[in-house]
Amino acid sequence: MADPFEALNPPATVAVIGAGPAGLMAAEVLARAGTAVRVYDHLASPARKLLMAGRGGLNLTHGEPLEALLARYGGARARLEPAIRAWPPEALRAWADGLGAETFVGSSGRVFPRALKASPLLRAWLARLAGLGVVLHPRQRWLGFAADGALRFTDTTARPAAAILALGGASWPRLGSDGTWPALLPGCAVAPLRPANMGFTVAWSPQVAALAGQPLKRIAARFGATTLRGEAMLTATGIEGGVVYALSAALREALATNGPQTLWLDLRPDLEEAALALKLGAPAASISTRLRKAGLAPAAMALVQEALHAGAARGNLAALVKAVPLRLLAPQPLARAISSAGGLAWEEVGADFMLRRHPGVFACGEMLDWEAPTGGYLLQGCFATGVAAARGALGWLARGGE
Ligand SMILES: Cc1cc2nc3c(=O)[nH]c(=O)nc-3n(C[C@H](O)[C@H](O)[C@H](O)COP(=O)(O)OP(=O)(O)OC[C@H]3O[C@@H](n4cnc5c(N)ncnc54)[C@H](O)[C@@H]3O)c2cc1C
Repeated sequence: MADPFEALNPPATVAVIGAGPAGLMAAEVLARAGTAVRVYDHLASPARKLLMAGRGGLNLTHGEPLEALLARYGGARARLEPAIRAWPPEALRAWADGLGAETFVGSSGRVFPRALKASPLLRAWLARLAGLGVVLHPRQRWLGFAADGALRFTDTTARPAAAILALGGASWPRLGSDGTWPALLPGCAVAPLRPANMGFTVAWSPQVAALAGQPLKRIAARFGATTLRGEAMLTATGIEGGVVYALSAALREALATNGPQTLWLDLRPDLEEAALALKLGAPAASISTRLRKAGLAPAAMALVQEALHAGAARGNLAALVKAVPLRLLAPQPLARAISSAGGLAWEEVGADFMLRRHPGVFACGEMLDWEAPTGGYLLQGCFATGVAAARGALGWLARGGE
């Protein structure tokens, strides 16, 4: 693996815009190479979304073989692969270990810091960056390029030797990445920012809506030819959670093309239908008694009842428990999604992550046009492209900005 922290001579000043994981990683690579780095962010404090990711344990990357990991990036694999091979999960784990955030591989293969939160890692990282001379400029929104190519910010204008854009996607806008940057890059092709890893709207009855927040544990969800096991959660307006997120890209595309889609839930995937029928017992008992006997939790029972009210056949309750249809009406809004699909089109970006229309300006992280499921693939992609964009900038500076 190539060492990205190689020295640059002579030193130059680089502006990094966006203090999320991609931008801060780019700043570290640049600062270690002897570059004077200034990081601008419009919020008062850095890496708000990384801190939010920490609430779920901070799934940094995934421990599966690299080939399997690369396949998670779908159509963007070819463009991301060199960056991820140059900064693979082992590099990410070594980097986190170096910050005192020792990692472990969970039973699902997901990699987490032992502290299961982001704040200790971020604290150590910001201290390291300060030690490397990286200067943070909070409350400075990038407003675009001036006529002479300078970078315009809320209170200042900068003319760095190179710039790195790490402006994020458009989910959870209160955490900073509000998806307004496409207007700052006129003429650049941007694939529309759409929700990724999100829930879906379902027209629940008041009875089901009242169970918002209730989990559906150890279920399987089927859409098309794909069946996945995991968990989900009822919301007041629909359903979200791991197994739904994992199917969300396919569901989103199908909804956009063909309207409402049916997601099938198996509420007892560990039992064959015949064994489940035995547990449910004789039809003489009430439906709720039978569902309770079969070990269904309140949220799962409510979904079966909902399907019966909607006209599902009562004759074979076991078959229904193993295939409850949910009519998904629409993806939940981008603001509530874990991540974004779409972004700066790959044709705008060279292999070194430099913008073809803006020599000396590089882009990285979620603002590029890729998506991946949850499982650590998002942060892996952001960190790796942050390293790659910084290396691209170093190469460009070393060539004298040619
Ligand atoms: C609830 C939640 C949980 C998540 N959990 C995980 C997880 O466990 N594992 C995982 O891999 N991923 C997770 N993610 C996704 C992951 O956090 C993001 O993919 C990642 O933070 C994106 O990094 P980034 O640096 O590209 O952008 P961001 O982290 O969004 O950072 C972009 C920065 O740019 C700044 N900015 C934007 N526009 C401007 C402007 N015009 N001027 C100045 N500054 C600007 C923003 O303020 C922000 O600080 C989670 C996301 C959410 C919402």
